[in-house]
Amino acid sequence: MQRECPYPRVVIRRIPSVRRTLVLDAIAELSPSVRSFVLKSADGAPIDYLAGQWMKLYLPGGIDRDYSIASAPVPVGEPGSDRFELAITRVEGGAGSAALFALTPGATLEALGPNGLFVREDRHRDVPAIYVATGTGLAPIRAMLHEELERDETTTQVLLFGCRTEDDLLYRSELEALAARHARFRYLPTLSRASDAWTGRRGYVQTHLPALRHELGDAHLYVCGLGKMIDDVRAVLKNELGVDRRFVHTERYD
Ligand SMILES: Cc1cc2nc3c(=O)[nH]c(=O)nc-3n(C[C@H](O)[C@H](O)[C@H](O)COP(=O)(O)OP(=O)(O)OC[C@H]3O[C@@H](n4cnc5c(N)ncnc54)[C@H](O)[C@@H]3O)c2cc1C
Repeated sequence: MQRECPYPRVVIRRIPSVRRTLVLDAIAELSPSVRSFVLKSADGAPIDYLAGQWMKLYLPGGIDRDYSIASAPVPVGEPGSDRFELAITRVEGGAGSAALFALTPGATLEALGPNGLFVREDRHRDVPAIYVATGTGLAPIRAMLHEELERDETTTQVLLFGCRTEDDLLYRSELEALAARHARFRYLPTLSRASDAWTGRRGYVQTHLPALRHELGDAHLYVCGLGKMIDDVRAVLKNELGVDRRFVHTERYD
């Protein structure tokens, strides 16, 4: 018997962007330069968002910065959650990330959200998805993947994740476990500065796209990270592979 899908086949729900106070609930190290921040609403109210959306945070020092939500939303129809997770890179000389890395649990922040259209539309779920991320560009894609893999769908889902070294492989054990549990999900990390011991893929994400695209055929691509990587990926998709831009969805961090 087919399990009932917890995510109804709605297109995109329009969720109002709300200004609210958040409390920093927990911090964890994800890599030498990336931390996870769990934020919860100060009044306990549920926080509604779509996988792939982001929040604007108002930080000490009078600055604001945008951060993609790294945790999947609660399925529609289930009691809402009052918290979400972010994955944030400490940027050298960056005022926003420095302000965040100086916070300790219990700190309060103002936020505005959810925002953004980097989400998976239901009409795009009939062909495979290739997710391409570098660094904390993985954040919204992690949310999308968790949501997708809870669904009764059969399409192949591939994550091509690029970073420098094994130490930078964010959520590695979680993603390996997801791949072991779901035959339709493939986790393909690629390292640009791999040690000799690394047996996986090497080089930049875009170099692996032609083979994947030839193997999978039509697929929607979700690409997130810094602008340089997105431009490089777009160039391969357009010039080498002739992929129609309607299949390519991007979120730029700079
Ligand atoms: C929609 C959206 C979602 C975002 N989500 C995330 C997220 O989930 N996690 C996250 O860490 N950042 C995210 N960012 C980037 C974030 O908003 C800030 O730009 C970043 O934290 C740098 O701010 P800063 O004040 O520390 O440095 P700034 O002085 O403002 O920036 C300096 C430079 O840092 C570089 N930079 C920006 N983001 C990153 C990054 N993630 N890794 C390495 N270098 C970077 C850029 O080249 C930028 O020009 C997102 C940006 C946007 C627009």
